[in-house]
Amino acid sequence: MAQTAIIEAFGGPEQFKLVDRPVGEPGPGEVRISHRSCGLNFIDVYQRTGLYPLNLPHALGMEAAGVIEAVGEGVTHLKEGDRAAYAAAPPGAYCEARVMPAAQVCPLPEGVDFETGAAMMLKGLTVNYLFHRTTPLKRGDTVLFHAAAGGVGLIACQWARDEGITLIGTAGTDEKCQLALDNGATHCINYRTADFKAEVAKLTDGKGVDVVMDSVGKDTFEGSLDCLKPLGMMISFGNASGPVPPVNIGILGGKGSLKLTRPTLFTHIADHAACQQMAAELFAKVTSGAVKIHIDQRFALADVAEAHRTLEARKTTGSTVLTLG
Ligand code: NDP
Repeated sequence: MAQTAIIEAFGGPEQFKLVDRPVGEPGPGEVRISHRSCGLNFIDVYQRTGLYPLNLPHALGMEAAGVIEAVGEGVTHLKEGDRAAYAAAPPGAYCEARVMPAAQVCPLPEGVDFETGAAMMLKGLTVNYLFHRTTPLKRGDTVLFHAAAGGVGLIACQWARDEGITLIGTAGTDEKCQLALDNGATHCINYRTADFKAEVAKLTDGKGVDVVMDSVGKDTFEGSLDCLKPLGMMISFGNASGPVPPVNIGILGGKGSLKLTRPTLFTHIADHAACQQMAAELFAKVTSGAVKIHIDQRFALADVAEAHRTLEARKTTGSTVLTLG
């Protein structure tokens, strides 16, 4: 049996219930993993509220690290006793142990502890595809990155510094801006006290940025388009402030032949080999010291509702983990 946080109805954090569930044996292509730590992500909020619907009841959580207890037929990249971490569907990582598909579970390298593994997989793989796969960024390019002091954000700041990319961050307090700057953002705008569009224009001598990475959604989408150079790329990859309203694609022409994409991590890691390759690239960034994973909040599994309240209230920075045991 494994203690597991589930929801039986969509709604607020009060929907979480801790239950004991049987774990079972892995079938073909599956592993049983005993978790040591689970990561919290904003996608968990979208799933809890029903913005991204699930069949209920459902356990939540898409990121964790632990020890492989058993492997099913056909699994060759993991064995019993291996340390491992993952960002993977289906949701269900907020638990002590589970059986799950093995394809996206990655062996955790020496020197990366369980908490770090749990705090970095979903967020770090996201930064990897945003910087290397959605559009080929090159040294000297300028990116506007919203919510730069968050979980994905602090990894993006350091990734940009390591790859010679000028990252203009935004964040909701001056303290968060300072944190983004300390982690490699070239500039950071407090978008609750300043007009980020005007600030970006000043910082780029009116030219605009090559790429915007916008996970805030409703509140920033339109302003973000106005920060782009002609032919620039708008990457809308989240909705922390609410979903982006329907867009008339004609505006992309009027604003300078802009490109617009709405990517998801799970498309990029659906293929086993691609996922393992992307994880190896992420592990290299972390083990080389180029990227440090900030674990700024820790909660017990039993306090998962409080963890969600804190994340939604914009009171977190960096990554948040649920500790087990
Ligand atoms: P964060 O730690 O970045 O938390 C979200 C942040 O968004 C907040 O801290 C806050 O920062 C900012 N924010 C702005 N407006 C609001 C609002 N109205 N309510 C709440 N927060 C707001 O979360 P994650 O690192 O887990 O994820 C970052 C974003 O990236 C999320 O939108 C997530 O869905 C998206 N994402 C998308 C993926 C994809 O493949 N498409 C994969 C992974 C993440 P501040 O106070 O500084 O404004």
